Amino acid sequence: MKFDCDVVIIGAGPVGSTIAYYLAKKGLNVMLVEKKKQIGYPLQCAGIVSRHIFNYNELPDDIILNTVNGAFLHTRNHILNVKKDYEVAYIIDRIAYDEFLLKRALDAGVKLTNQKAVDFDVNKGITYLSNNQKVTSKIIVGCDGYNSKLSHSMGNAQSNFAASQMLVKIDENNMKSFRNSNESINNYVDTYLLEEILPGFIWVIPIGNNRYRVGLFSTHSHKRQDEILKGFLNDNFYYEIIEKYKGFIPVFSSNNKVVKNRGLLIGDAAGQIKPTSGGGLMIAFDACRVACKYITEAIRKDDLDILKGYQKEFNKKYSKEFNYQFKVQKTLNLLSDKDLDYFFLKLKENNCEELISEYGDMETQSALVKEFIKRGLIFKIMPAFLFKKIVNIFGFR
Ligand SMILES: Cc1cc2nc3c(=O)[nH]c(=O)nc-3n(C[C@H](O)[C@H](O)[C@H](O)COP(=O)(O)OP(=O)(O)OC[C@H]3O[C@@H](n4cnc5c(N)ncnc54)[C@H](O)[C@@H]3O)c2cc1C
Repeated sequence: MKFDCDVVIIGAGPVGSTIAYYLAKKGLNVMLVEKKKQIGYPLQCAGIVSRHIFNYNELPDDIILNTVNGAFLHTRNHILNVKKDYEVAYIIDRIAYDEFLLKRALDAGVKLTNQKAVDFDVNKGITYLSNNQKVTSKIIVGCDGYNSKLSHSMGNAQSNFAASQMLVKIDENNMKSFRNSNESINNYVDTYLLEEILPGFIWVIPIGNNRYRVGLFSTHSHKRQDEILKGFLNDNFYYEIIEKYKGFIPVFSSNNKVVKNRGLLIGDAAGQIKPTSGGGLMIAFDACRVACKYITEAIRKDDLDILKGYQKEFNKKYSKEFNYQFKVQKTLNLLSDKDLDYFFLKLKENNCEELISEYGDMETQSALVKEFIKRGLIFKIMPAFLFKKIVNIFGFR
């Protein structure tokens, strides 16, 4: 069979541009299909990535807006401060990053078509475009985000959390009093837990010049999220809203088929999102490297069955950690605002700030949870009436 190109990639977001670059570097003939004229807009990201990002992708210095050492974790009445004595995360200019990754792909020889992909035939490798043209390829890679058309055509039903974010100006002293701390304001992010939005949370991310990305994800509509965010800002700050953004965060499901015939999904299109934090960039970049290996081999050996190794390798690497994160979410879901306060008070009383600082990691929670279990702390910090439910969630004997 003759094809127009080796691989067609739908979506030139960070994930589409990254896999396009990797495949072009392997000598494949790659086409990116992107519906937007200007990629990256509107911003739909808090832009926080762990310091381990360099293990997964390039990140030029001029895209980093700020670096942070830790976090202030809030419930309504208590605050924990967790920190390392080194940088733990970078706050990035996400639009500039999307532009950088796309340029890198184009420089490596990837072709870009500014069209919307409207339909697919994953058996024959056909992508139908909005200009009534079609393009054929040995493999179609869906990097078309949370509402992926390719994923739908492969039979998946993706569920998503709504997410809202505002760019907000907050005075330095006001931020210090919110944290009840004199520490340098730009060195920390804040998270705020509220019964109403669990398993989501509110984030406050400093990008410098007294500006913060303040957002949340939850099961609510964008309209209700707007009210919740304004309530949070009114309760804690004198502030000025500069911009508002809306988006969606996929919920990971191991039932999703990320490979079918000539179709393969990566990133939000595959629901590759950390359950507790809603972060997607790092694991999707990791998935790009895994996918690149299987795609190049499948094309070289002309054997589509090889693609299935991509889903297997991804699940093997991430399903255990994701299971822990779902258990943490389920536990948090049991808590009222009063319970959250109790939980934080007990964490403080048991000197858990140090433990969280040592074992906590924005990418993984399993190490920290295991440490709590090992030290017998899990039942010291949770309200007694929840013990039985927690035992069931974690499957303790
Ligand atoms: C409010 C919010 C905050 C977030 N904060 C963070 C964070 O701090 N850290 C983090 O790691 N992650 C964060 N995320 C998640 C992160 O933004 C996503 O995981 C990431 O954008 C996924 O990249 P992607 O390339 O898979 O999809 P996208 O970035 O959604 O890109 C998809 C691309 O496909 C194009 N496209 C879609 N359909 C078609 C079509 N039919 N034809 C052609 N083109 C199409 C779109 O125009 C777009 O350019 C956040 C998400 C939200 C909503």
